[in-house]
Amino acid sequence: MAEPTRWALIGATTIAREWMVNAIRQTGGTIHTVMSSDAERGAAFAAEFGIPHATTDLDEVLRDVDAVYISTTNERHFAECMAAAKAGKHVLCEKPLATSYEDAAAMVKACREAGVVMATNHHLRNAATHRAMRDAIAAGRIGTPLSARVVHAGTLPIQMLGWRLHTKGAGAGALLDLLVHDTDLLRFLLGEEPLQVATVAQNGGLAIEGIEDAAMSLIQFSGNIIAQVHDSFTTRAQRTSCEVHGTTGSLVALNNMAQAPAGTVTLRDQDGERELRLDQEDYYVRGCRAFHAAIRGEGHPVVTGEDGLKSLATALAAREAAKSGRFEPIRQSAEG
Ligand code: NDP
Repeated sequence: MAEPTRWALIGATTIAREWMVNAIRQTGGTIHTVMSSDAERGAAFAAEFGIPHATTDLDEVLRDVDAVYISTTNERHFAECMAAAKAGKHVLCEKPLATSYEDAAAMVKACREAGVVMATNHHLRNAATHRAMRDAIAAGRIGTPLSARVVHAGTLPIQMLGWRLHTKGAGAGALLDLLVHDTDLLRFLLGEEPLQVATVAQNGGLAIEGIEDAAMSLIQFSGNIIAQVHDSFTTRAQRTSCEVHGTTGSLVALNNMAQAPAGTVTLRDQDGERELRLDQEDYYVRGCRAFHAAIRGEGHPVVTGEDGLKSLATALAAREAAKSGRFEPIRQSAEG
């Protein structure tokens, strides 16, 4: 049997606590160390999860491990990923990969040149709902896709009412936090690339002034597909959804934009309406399993570093569009 992959957690964070410690351990990884900027919090996290080491030092965290999971606030991902690549460690990095396109492109390049696996932790491709939708679209069950609509609008749980709403430098706001997920999901479902975006951003009083806590975007995709996306932290009673409409039918997912397995998918066409069968599994476990396989040379991560660069490019263009009031082009080249 293969040796377990030895991991370091960079960031003693909510997502690591709620999802990733379990996902790494369930799929063939052991967690060797955790890094936190706060020694006490790092030590408490290590004790809570039975992790043998805790440190505040980036060089130290990279010793004696094969892979790192980076889940610090977004402005820190760049330096942490570059150091990990330089040390020859595989990188699973949270979204958005970085707060600028240039930083994210440099991260992707550094990992590729170091010959390490790099993945972006967009989890929604792992959802049974979205895999069923993608299969149905690929099988032609709605004809040729023409349009899509995503509602990624809800409220933030109390543990998330922090930097997302007030720390501009950390990549706060609904666009960098949510639109990256929606873009990755639409790329996955449609197999097409986002070309340009127009966005109206809103501050509904939850985030500090100057940061959008909601936004609506129109994205034009290649393949002559138009998409509409509603991202929000301020919507109290809305169901999330994702619809794809084609020349012969429509797919409608409800309650699907979540972290825990959930949601339904309905196919509507001339024969009526029926629910698709779903084989649900923890999204993060599925992603980690593919990451471990990629380390063994078996296939690719579910969402690569380049995929993360593309979702970031869309969110950054949307932020520009919200300022300019015009459609803004979305950068296309992987590292340009
Ligand atoms: P947290 O708010 O839990 O942590 C963010 C940062 O704050 C960390 O860098 C951590 O740094 C520090 N921190 C954590 N807890 C405390 C505390 N009690 N007091 C002071 N500082 C603290 O972040 P999230 O888990 O919400 O998000 C982390 C990353 O994961 C982001 O990039 C986010 O976009 C992404 N994310 C991805 C999701 C997905 O489904 N893919 C879902 C949620 C988040 P340190 O430990 O070094 O001090």
